[in-house]
Amino acid sequence: MNTEKSTGLSLSFEVFPPKKWEDFPELYETLNALKIHNPEFISCTYGAGGSNSKKTAEIASHIEKDLGICAIAHLTCAALTEEGLLSTIDNFKNSGIHNVLALRGDKPADMSTECFENRRYKHPSEIIPILKDSGFRVSAACYPEKHYEASSMDEDLSWLKYKVDQGADSLISQLFFKNDVFYRFMDSILKMGIEVPVHAGIMPITSSKMISTTINLSGASVPKSLSDLIATYGDSPCDMKKAGIEYAVRQITDLRDHGIRNIHIYTMNHSETADAICALL
Ligand code: FAD
Repeated sequence: MNTEKSTGLSLSFEVFPPKKWEDFPELYETLNALKIHNPEFISCTYGAGGSNSKKTAEIASHIEKDLGICAIAHLTCAALTEEGLLSTIDNFKNSGIHNVLALRGDKPADMSTECFENRRYKHPSEIIPILKDSGFRVSAACYPEKHYEASSMDEDLSWLKYKVDQGADSLISQLFFKNDVFYRFMDSILKMGIEVPVHAGIMPITSSKMISTTINLSGASVPKSLSDLIATYGDSPCDMKKAGIEYAVRQITDLRDHGIRNIHIYTMNHSETADAICALL
């Protein structure tokens, strides 16, 4: 089935490297299952400290070469030296990777605040031109509700514009639960002349436990309709999963009605969540 034709959407998925190498076959089964939905790309995350850089390269290479799907390898620069960046670029190239999501990353747990503040690459805008010169197509992150460190939305948007001016070819958004926030964000960036494709980040909340971790990590605000749903179904895992998937589908359908076609689903290595969403779309 061609999901793009049947849903009118261009879907992409995100996976993360398993902690143990022996869990790779399970992830590869997940990736096989995601392939059925004909995604525009599948991206694979990267440890803030670069700890799983080899795993990211291995998974992205498998997506690209063995599955024939466009892969985006995430790359965080907060803990990178110049030498580290060049060897990661070599490793990505030798692994057949053509697309990179350039990120800063947060302070790794084992890095002192002083080291973090004195890091070689302060922001992805410094590595985007290097990645472009090395032949990669480069994406960057954007934040419809602003990044938590930015003092205002305007400040965050001006740095976003700078990332695009430095060569970012497309943007992937932080997850959000309120579509109005995303529509405002899209209006603002268009007014600023940011015209690269933006992939709207959707995280299906499939358990009540997920919500606090998700808010902590993303800073996304939770609308009453979602908190009501968690209050109603939170104690019943099966009902919560169904309700969470339906919430994500309502978000995606509304985005489609507003002309947003690029949807990036934070699948969290669960292909059945993607299956359930695609079936309802
Ligand atoms: P930046 O673009 O550097 O933005 C961070 C802050 O600095 C913002 O407040 C911004 O306004 C400001 N800023 C930006 N440029 C400048 C500049 N030139 N000068 C001064 N200020 C500036 N983390 C991981 O560890 N691994 C992952 O795989 C991963 N994947 C992600 C995927 C997506 C789609 C998103 C949205 C986030 C992801 N993250 C990941 C989290 C990300 O690393 C954090 O959100 C991090 O805090 C910021 O990264 P950034 O690339 O947006 O940083």
